[in-house]
Amino acid sequence: MTSPAEQPMVAAAAAAAAAVVAAAGEQAYRAWLAHTATCATCRVSAACPTSVRLGRAWRKARR
Ligand SMILES: [Zn+2]
Repeated sequence: MTSPAEQPMVAAAAAAAAAVVAAAGEQAYRAWLAHTATCATCRVSAACPTSVRLGRAWRKARR
């Protein structure tokens, strides 16, 4: 049986877990952004395998 006093802790734990996921997503996003800013292929075309890979990693991390 869960006491009412434990509910805020459960909510805080869920928020912390969500923050970890968000941080991972942001890290992946920054990696993708840094790549597109420096990659010659990305500057001239959207068909860059590395960009696709980083984009997939970003979406996966956001889940
Ligand atoms: Zn690229």
